[in-house]
Amino acid sequence: MSETVTSPLSEVFKAEEKRLLNECIHCGFCLPACPTYMENGKEMDSPRGRLHLMGAAVEGRTNLDSAFEEHMKLCLVCRACETACPSGVQFGHLMETTRMALAESRTKGRFEQFLLGTVLPSHRWLSFVFTATRIIQILRLDKLSTILPFSLLVPEKLRKLQPSLPPVPLRRFGKSHDVHYPAVGQKRGTVTLFTGCVMDHLFPHVHAATARVLTWNGYDVTIPSDQTCCGALHAHAGEKSMTSFLADENISILDNYNSDYIVVNSAGCGAHLKSYLTYVDSGISVKIVDLSELLASIELKPPTVGPAGPVAYDEPCHLLHGQGISAEPKAILERIPGIDLVPLKDGDRCCGSAGSYSVTETEMSLNLLEAKMDDIDSSGAAIVVTANPGCQMQLNWGVKRRGLDVEVLHLAELLDRCFSPDPEYPSEPFARAG
Ligand code: SF4
Ligand code: SF4
Repeated sequence: MSETVTSPLSEVFKAEEKRLLNECIHCGFCLPACPTYMENGKEMDSPRGRLHLMGAAVEGRTNLDSAFEEHMKLCLVCRACETACPSGVQFGHLMETTRMALAESRTKGRFEQFLLGTVLPSHRWLSFVFTATRIIQILRLDKLSTILPFSLLVPEKLRKLQPSLPPVPLRRFGKSHDVHYPAVGQKRGTVTLFTGCVMDHLFPHVHAATARVLTWNGYDVTIPSDQTCCGALHAHAGEKSMTSFLADENISILDNYNSDYIVVNSAGCGAHLKSYLTYVDSGISVKIVDLSELLASIELKPPTVGPAGPVAYDEPCHLLHGQGISAEPKAILERIPGIDLVPLKDGDRCCGSAGSYSVTETEMSLNLLEAKMDDIDSSGAAIVVTANPGCQMQLNWGVKRRGLDVEVLHLAELLDRCFSPDPEYPSEPFARAG
């Protein structure tokens, strides 16, 4: 009699995940869309190979050993394979479920536990960490990590990554109380702006630009004080209970304001909140939309000036593949007078940012970033527009490393710049970049 083997994956893969797994017909259409497979050519680092491994683990034919974990960790969860798949395999959900099993089967490092469980969900902790980082940057103590003997004290990975962090702004965007900004002119509707965790501290100027663009185009904007991390990084790391806790917490806070929309300007957070809602019955009454989704659906006020130089649009994976949004940001850009929109080769290919991927899989992340820089360089763009703070940080770093004369802007920043010469344009909220 054969022995029944129970693997941790068969325990977390419920009937729905097993059904999704069986939808793969092994056709391989997803292979050319997969950045990790295209980079190293290994079947086990392709979507089909990873699904095969998941299937083997569910059936107990393989263990969740270190080789299995390596192939799963190297995945960007960019979901490009979902867009390419003719069978509609929901790879992102299967990968996050697999990572939950992996997370449950190993002891987490103390740093990872502290970061995910304590720092990211707390604006107090984030303020402390970023204030300390700002002081280090101002005193240029970060340069010490490249000089002997201090360099011996800092792990090589951190030394490599330290220049990728932008200057930390003086203040975060969120306040300790709710803030409302009224629509300018005729009111079109009401929105609640999701401000997240790291973005609130590192990209306050993008949130401020978003709020100005929205009020200028007729929306009352509310920014709730007590919102927190969306939990996307926890989902990528397989942290099941924190993922549910943070998504539930945010949704209940954001749903309280009777707004017409919850607007998200971070593709990663938006994709996570939307996809979380497809798997739980949250009872949420408000529609979650990406900023570009909302702006493309209305008649924008005509921008006053155009951008100074050719503009290329780089598609964030979590907007394109995670939310199926591609035409909207491009349509908005096309409405800017005098814009010279230039094509970007492989603009739909991941830049290697992918949440904490640049920290955990630095080598692959840098390879993807270098390929992206080749394409940006040959596009002739003076401005690259994106719609995700992680991509913006990664692209900025790539531009700096390569010494390109290219500015990387969030879509909201470019629109804000094109609207702002109008004397009636709102000056509030204001936030300075670092
Ligand atoms: S999510 Fe991205 S990296 Fe992962 S298998 Fe799919 S295409 Fe490849
Ligand atoms: S995931 Fe989709 S595209 Fe890839 S092998 Fe399976 S069925 Fe084919």
